[in-house]
Amino acid sequence: MNWREIETTRRHLGAPRGGYYFYALTRELLRRGRFFLRRRLSRGEFISVNLETTAYCNRACPFCFNHPRFPPRERGLMAPDLFHHLVAELAALNFRGRLSLYFYGEPLLDRRLPEWVRHLREKLPRAYLHLATNGDLLTEELFLALIRAGVEMFFITDYAEEAQPHLIRLREKYPFHVELRRMGEARLTDRAGMIFGRGRELAQPCLRPASQLVINWRGEVLLCCHDFYGRYKMGQVGEKSLKEIWHSPEFRQYRELLAQGQRSRLPLCRHCDDTGAVAF
Ligand code: SF4
Ligand code: SF4
Repeated sequence: MNWREIETTRRHLGAPRGGYYFYALTRELLRRGRFFLRRRLSRGEFISVNLETTAYCNRACPFCFNHPRFPPRERGLMAPDLFHHLVAELAALNFRGRLSLYFYGEPLLDRRLPEWVRHLREKLPRAYLHLATNGDLLTEELFLALIRAGVEMFFITDYAEEAQPHLIRLREKYPFHVELRRMGEARLTDRAGMIFGRGRELAQPCLRPASQLVINWRGEVLLCCHDFYGRYKMGQVGEKSLKEIWHSPEFRQYRELLAQGQRSRLPLCRHCDDTGAVAF
């Protein structure tokens, strides 16, 4: 925790010192309270959620399923009823892990975002709200609207050929809320062996499906964030509760196989070179 960064951010946000320091401190404690999250994990609960409100993206990066060399998937926006149902379920579970608004769509294309983030913040006061974006549309005005609505961290990957100055400015002005990396700094996975075709076969355990709930714009719960085409649908939000889906025999069986390193038993996982680390 860097107090100078916090003070820089606070000044630019124009927030009162006492209130903002208290917020920063509690946020850090929640974020770092992995001990408590680990206890939840050991009780068989998910500790992070990836939630896609829009399936559209303004880019088509060559190392992403959104590139035209890959067959397209059906795209759309999450229905408001579905979103509200989902948030109510997470609230009933007292969800307090990381909630990231991302699957393969660019969240800033969704104009409902500030209102929806406000709703998430209100219903899930202890969750850590995280927004993964390419930052192309991230004006300072939108950034501030989302921070005030409740986003705690922007995880920005700048995919432009030249570093984008507006993103560097945001990082300099609001360091406590912005993680910025350039394309090329990121370690790219083969996304279940489908992007680069590296053909690696790892026998190491994968704990992603034991720690993370992935929900696409249609409300389908998927085995993993690399399952772009939804080959392993674990259930449909609204038809079964999140708890029922998470503890379903099918999900548990896949989780156990993967925890034992038996990736080869699942076609999706056979050539996956992801580390399989716990998704915090
Ligand atoms: S910006 Fe992200 S989601 Fe969009 S195409 Fe590039 S890698 Fe995929
Ligand atoms: S092995 Fe790879 S594709 Fe399979 S669940 Fe783990 S991270 Fe996802």
